[in-house]
Amino acid sequence: DRSLLEADPEVAAAVAGELRRQDRTLEMIASENFAPLAVMQAQGSVLTNKYAEGYPGRRYYGGCEHVDVVEQLAIDRLKALFGAEFANVQPHSGAQANAAVMAALLEPGDTILGLALAHGGHLTHGMHLNFSGRLYDVAAYHVRADDHRVDMAEVEALAHERRPKLIIAGWSAYPRQQDFAEFRRIADEVGAWFMVDMAHFAGLVAAGLHPSPVPHAHVVTSTTHKTLGGPRGGVILSADTALAKKLNSSVFPGQQGGPLEHVIAAKAVAFKLAGEPEFRDRQARTLAGARILAARILDDRLLAERGVGVVSGGTDVHLVLVDLRDSELDGKQAEDRLHRVGITVNRNAVPFDPRPPMVSSGVRIGTAALAARGFDADDFVIVSDVIARALRPQVTDTELDALAERVAALAARHPLYPELQA
Ligand code: PLP
Repeated sequence: DRSLLEADPEVAAAVAGELRRQDRTLEMIASENFAPLAVMQAQGSVLTNKYAEGYPGRRYYGGCEHVDVVEQLAIDRLKALFGAEFANVQPHSGAQANAAVMAALLEPGDTILGLALAHGGHLTHGMHLNFSGRLYDVAAYHVRADDHRVDMAEVEALAHERRPKLIIAGWSAYPRQQDFAEFRRIADEVGAWFMVDMAHFAGLVAAGLHPSPVPHAHVVTSTTHKTLGGPRGGVILSADTALAKKLNSSVFPGQQGGPLEHVIAAKAVAFKLAGEPEFRDRQARTLAGARILAARILDDRLLAERGVGVVSGGTDVHLVLVDLRDSELDGKQAEDRLHRVGITVNRNAVPFDPRPPMVSSGVRIGTAALAARGFDADDFVIVSDVIARALRPQVTDTELDALAERVAALAARHPLYPELQA
């Protein structure tokens, strides 16, 4: 058979270009990571050819004896990793995992209560253009203006006022831990289901470096490609099996047809690796990197003088939200500035943002991908200083060129996928 290069040189060239980009720049988008080679090999396997509607042992297609092994391994490893009694590994993405849970537990028109998108929530937690905002009645809680922490008093008040059927914790841009026990107490008070979307911090939970939502929530969803470092995809977990049938049938046949068994194989590999000591070390470096970054930005007198801060005054997780509300530099300009020196981030609205979302007053900076590349505390000090310098309003083009050279040198010290570059 022809190789990719022979069959389609245009796509092959774009893939090679992307490998070069990933290798030569510093990836600090908080939702991204680098899947290990073994994960990518599993995903690029013959399992992509197989239809397997149903679940292991109960398929609607013949020839599933090997994919059954793979999917059962993924389920068992995921359950063991998070101490869950139920797992579904078929959702094609985090959004589909959330859609399946909501379809299982709610009727259209029911009320859901999640963190407002503008305060760090995800699209699937009730944004008006998303299925969640179109199908369900949405109530949203916020962070407090003074300390940027989730306002649990507002959560409780809204729960009593709006009587949601589902309360959602979890976030896409929030630098702190949430109080899952308190959320559950409030959910129980009003008879709501409680779901935690741990997409962002699942890797930290797996490593034991972040409280687990599993004992507190009725259902937990996650992506597998953020801090968890696996292939792009979603999963659903629960601490008990009471909802197993409902959740499984909501994924298939409710939301999806054939599962992506090649991706499920890659998930299985990622869950195995996430149980190894090296993974814990990597998550510890991720957390240390984020703390170093927050501290270096906060300690930079020139940045402070020009109104650059850090949302909530620090971080407990893998990301830092730089607060540019009082700075002449906006989120778009900051993103472009960092791109210019070879650091990839995304601009992001911060709570109480006066600028429109396309510009925004923040950048979200994550450390998980660099930790996967082997970055340690010393490396993160260098990266943090590069970022701090690049964000200074008075930085010159010559200085930016010098910062770009430092970034290139750091990237070269930690080659990415050397096996693929040979
Ligand atoms: N949930 C949260 C909290 C997220 O941050 C994201 C992705 O950004 C998702 C769900 C959706 O995941 P996916 O992009 O796989 O649909």
